[in-house]
Amino acid sequence: MAGHYPKRVLFVYPGIAYIGYDSFERSLGGSDSDPIYGFTLLAGVIAEKGYTYEFVDLRQLKNEDELVQKLKQSDAPFAAITVQTPSFDIACRVASLAKSTGKITIAGGVHATVAPEDFEDNPAWDYVVLGEGEVAFGQLLDDLVNGKARNNVVPGEILNHLDDLPLPHLFREWDPCYRDSYAIEIARGCPGRCTYCVSGERKFYKKMRFRSPDHVLRELDHVYDRYRFRHLLFLDVCASTRPKFFTALLTKLLERYAHLDITTQDRVDSFNDEVAHLLSRFNNCMVWFGFESASPRILKFIGKHTTPEQGMRAAELCHKYNLDIGANVLIGIPTETNKEIQQTYDFIKSIKPKMLFCNILSPFPGTQIHHYCKDNGILPELDTHERYELRHVLEKGFIKGIDYERIRYWHWMFNRLIDLDSRAPWQRIKDGIRSHYLAYRLLKKLSL
Ligand code: SF4
Repeated sequence: MAGHYPKRVLFVYPGIAYIGYDSFERSLGGSDSDPIYGFTLLAGVIAEKGYTYEFVDLRQLKNEDELVQKLKQSDAPFAAITVQTPSFDIACRVASLAKSTGKITIAGGVHATVAPEDFEDNPAWDYVVLGEGEVAFGQLLDDLVNGKARNNVVPGEILNHLDDLPLPHLFREWDPCYRDSYAIEIARGCPGRCTYCVSGERKFYKKMRFRSPDHVLRELDHVYDRYRFRHLLFLDVCASTRPKFFTALLTKLLERYAHLDITTQDRVDSFNDEVAHLLSRFNNCMVWFGFESASPRILKFIGKHTTPEQGMRAAELCHKYNLDIGANVLIGIPTETNKEIQQTYDFIKSIKPKMLFCNILSPFPGTQIHHYCKDNGILPELDTHERYELRHVLEKGFIKGIDYERIRYWHWMFNRLIDLDSRAPWQRIKDGIRSHYLAYRLLKKLSL
């Protein structure tokens, strides 16, 4: 496929697995900050090369007819679609609609990276970019625009210096979110080897890299001047594994942004007194930890390499410095017993988290647990990739041999640990975004 094309890209976010079209309001504050942020980075990179872009979030469209209309209206020759495993089938549908309107389709994102073979044989896709795409995607576009032939599988390129990236270009469709909350990348990579996580296999982010505090601040100043957001979320999962970097960043941030509410994520084995103390100087702070389980056997099985004692120590530090705890829990793990879930429940109850997310294990492709399930014959035949979506697993089950009635009971029990009053300050962030979004929709309607 070669030809001279205009320098214009249509970015498409197809993350509507299990929630469907017209679901933006309902899904606010979900796990989508990551892929959308990734798009804004790509937009920044290609804008420097002279490209323009449009953005479509399927959750903001009423139905597929509206998508087709958008595709037809767009004069971009390239449709770049980010693909997470649960939305793979929807992404393929989007790609085939995009192709029917004459676009060149390019897949990227986690599923493209861990399962490129799913794209190679599928006529809906022209190119698939693996791993970190900023450099590779820009190069692919340049080559296509200049009529140079490329292989369909485009290997990504690990960015060694994150400070080389230009500022992200934010999408006006996400304005309602930015007005309340901004999610920012401060580092890439994770030293963990969790068996249920794609990063654990090191396919996606192989190497730890950090942005300099000045580079982070430049982005924040730029966005804050425009939106005056109240809440800042660090997208990285293990900031304090490099304590020097994180304390330098927090110290800098405190000079200008101590009035913000902060949400950060960390590992229990690296969280420490100095980081906790610095975080406590912001207006409010919630630290999310992947406690996952309080059973040493299960922690070993899932490759967490942490102990319940480390979890307890991290929680005590949070209480000492008045930081709110966000607890990630994982149940529905092969071989896990009722007694082990009870152990986790008692542990979580004792640390008094303000927020809690009870995940049911979904053995995503590209993880060690996926291979485990396959090798042990407990992975079911899949009719759709939506089966990997948490709500789907919760309602209909997934791994053979697991008693999901029992898992649903525990899921309900864990959720009961958090009372509405205790999560009120954090619920306000979602409510704020929601009201901005309703105002945005009204204005859009009036301007039509
Ligand atoms: S679950 Fe978290 S700590 Fe474990 S490998 Fe994935 S990102 Fe790293």
